[in-house]
Amino acid sequence: MDMVVLVYNPGVQRYEPRRVQIKTLNDAVALRGSAAVLLGEAKFAWESGDQALKKAQPDPDELRRAITEAPGEPVTASFLERDGALVPADFHSLNLATLYYNFERAADFFSRIGGLEQAEMGTPQAYYFPEMDISGIGSADNAFFMPLLGFLFLPFDALQKVPLAINGGVLGHEYSHAVFNLKVHDKETFPEADLEWNSPEPEATPGLNLLASIDEGIADLFGTGVTCSEDFSVCDPAFLALSLPSRMGTERQLDLPHCMTPPLLEHLAELNYTDFSNAALEYEVGSVLASAMWRATSDGDLLQSISAEPAAAFARSLMFQTLYKALGSSTSSIGLRALVASHLADQANFRLDSSQSKGVLDTIVDAADDPILKAALCRSFLDRFGFTLDQLKSCPGSSTAYGECSH
Ligand SMILES: [Zn+2]
Repeated sequence: MDMVVLVYNPGVQRYEPRRVQIKTLNDAVALRGSAAVLLGEAKFAWESGDQALKKAQPDPDELRRAITEAPGEPVTASFLERDGALVPADFHSLNLATLYYNFERAADFFSRIGGLEQAEMGTPQAYYFPEMDISGIGSADNAFFMPLLGFLFLPFDALQKVPLAINGGVLGHEYSHAVFNLKVHDKETFPEADLEWNSPEPEATPGLNLLASIDEGIADLFGTGVTCSEDFSVCDPAFLALSLPSRMGTERQLDLPHCMTPPLLEHLAELNYTDFSNAALEYEVGSVLASAMWRATSDGDLLQSISAEPAAAFARSLMFQTLYKALGSSTSSIGLRALVASHLADQANFRLDSSQSKGVLDTIVDAADDPILKAALCRSFLDRFGFTLDQLKSCPGSSTAYGECSH
């Protein structure tokens, strides 16, 4: 089915209407298909003192009932038909059609880089402009994924840029959180690691801090991946700046060099998750990882070793495949899932580096099948994180840092 939606044009750096083919839609008016079910008019409310939220092992169904004031209903989009294509008739219809298209693109990206099938992922449920009342405060201008409810695209208030539902990279970022939850946490509403590692202040929660950080860094990488053209030759690493204040966008722009600093490493190891997350440090640590992975795709040796054209595009697809593989799965003994599971009882040893036991960065290096990509990742990790070879035991002993970060 052909539909007009908003698509990013990197040439002129803006979103513009384009006729695209939507492959998975069953019901155009409700924008329902295997790629997503969109619901409007939902209302959720909770008080921070809610008893259901305070339990150590909350029951998802009970909690969902407790916070849902209106469950939402199928959206109704209006279209005009022109030359065999459906053209959204108003702003919300255009927003909704683009949102559905973005879900389809995200699913397609993960299918191409990792063979992820919609059946394994399930059909995502997305709330469009739900009313959220958190301890009496309404919220707006945000998009997020939470395993308990699904995807939420809140109404606008102050944001004057590209709406979050239209920004394909933002959807890709949130979709990545759902994939991370699927692969690393077996789709658990309340992941075991979160429950095990969470501690009241002021206790340090190094494992939880790191887990949240890699989840964010990977989401910015895959978010960028979803913005890429089909062959990965054109990508938009600056996608966040289109929707967020530009300072927030560049702080996480992964083609800029983001380097680990001693204070950040200290916060990662010593802060309680509440303080770590209130300072948004998971995005800072995540950006170091994202910047390192992206840098490796322009490694000179790697580009020279690739005969496919264009080499940079091939290098990116190789990096995305490696990162997806590094998540692991319930049937694999390698990857982040197994690494997290092996440290449930000792979060202090769930680390970036391998000075104690295998670390997160080793796990990513191990997932690279191509030895030249492996070497590029090592050079990049040594540089961006400032680690020594002793702290990256999966790297060849001959690896040297790029020398772009000063440590
Ligand atoms: Zn995120």
